[in-house]
Amino acid sequence: MTHTASLERDAPTLLRRRPRLPSWSKGLQALDAMAQSYSFRSILGAADAGRSVIWGGWSWESPLTYACDTIPVSYDQLWSEESRESEAIAEDHFQVPSEFCSMIKAMLGRLHIDRDHKIKRILHFGSGCEPIHSVLELAKQDGYDIFTLDTVTAFRSTAKHDADIAFLVEELQRLSHWLTGKPADEDRVALEIRRKNAVLHKVARVLELRARHPLDIPGIHTKQIFMGAMHGFGDLDAFGTVLDTLIAELEELDDEPEAPDYIPVVLAGSVGNIQIFNAIEESNGAIVGWVYHGADTYREDLPPLQALAHYVLDAQSRGDLGEAVGASVAYRRHLVEEEVRKTGARGVISSSITGCPYASLMQQLERDHFNRADIPIITLETDVHREPPTEEQVMRVKAFIEMLS
Ligand code: SF4
Repeated sequence: MTHTASLERDAPTLLRRRPRLPSWSKGLQALDAMAQSYSFRSILGAADAGRSVIWGGWSWESPLTYACDTIPVSYDQLWSEESRESEAIAEDHFQVPSEFCSMIKAMLGRLHIDRDHKIKRILHFGSGCEPIHSVLELAKQDGYDIFTLDTVTAFRSTAKHDADIAFLVEELQRLSHWLTGKPADEDRVALEIRRKNAVLHKVARVLELRARHPLDIPGIHTKQIFMGAMHGFGDLDAFGTVLDTLIAELEELDDEPEAPDYIPVVLAGSVGNIQIFNAIEESNGAIVGWVYHGADTYREDLPPLQALAHYVLDAQSRGDLGEAVGASVAYRRHLVEEEVRKTGARGVISSSITGCPYASLMQQLERDHFNRADIPIITLETDVHREPPTEEQVMRVKAFIEMLS
């Protein structure tokens, strides 16, 4: 049977399985509004008004960043606009080889374009990939002040030694000095940890409900939730309120359970482009589990800087948060497999960025692992640009989901 024939066959089913959360869902609308408010352009206004704003510092370390009265801006804002132009600057002006990943080229070019703006400080965790370090070194030419938080690695929880924790605590104190000129206000950090934990509990609840209603929170909104889990779009309390609305809406759907009529899949990484999400859903697929950023909470029984240090080392040993915290490439597949078992997914969509040495190795390990485990897998490579995916990519996704049906 041809793909076209199969899609025609499925058309009535697609009409029947329209998402039940209405497009005017207050939760989804509020989520969109928050994501818009967190754009680099709008945060620039805060920097112009004299607020402390930095690039980076939005991930596991965000409780300290917020405790230092600083707004962290996520790196993804660097490629959210005119990414092709930025990439061209990286290649032509900085002579970055074209085969490097689009992410670092777009970052470098955008930093160059915006070199006269007020956000001139960049916080980076030393576990990041080598290409990103090189790019940040080049950004110094444009007057950026780069702070690198040195790291230690504990690939197993048993390798999490007291000396490692003490080292990271010192590094976090050094970061506090860089941001404020003073040691960390530990009471404030503890407060920010509690605030973030409250949000992470809600994120976990939304993801739990979404696993039963995967079509009601579309892929692009789920990605926003994962991002918000890290930085709360600059306002954790407001983000928590958005999550409350979504939880209430999903719980209402939970009261009238429907038998699933979709093909469940697990997504590893981010496919980024809305048209890939659409291709999955148009082929009667649904992302029921997603390994992207974790929603684990911080310990509250420890001094707060130690809690941050434990968090990052635990994330490494679980494989959470990927290369950004120095997790081993070998670990993501375990998290993906756990999601497959938990959700009963029929296959795995593994995504990476073209030209990323870290992700290409990770995908090869996943391919081998899931082939051995007899779990169907498709691997996709994307970039950070906004252009639609190629026809071939869309057809591969649709053919894969059809194969699972
Ligand atoms: S996509 Fe890969 S190479 Fe590019 S910045 Fe991320 S980890 Fe580094």
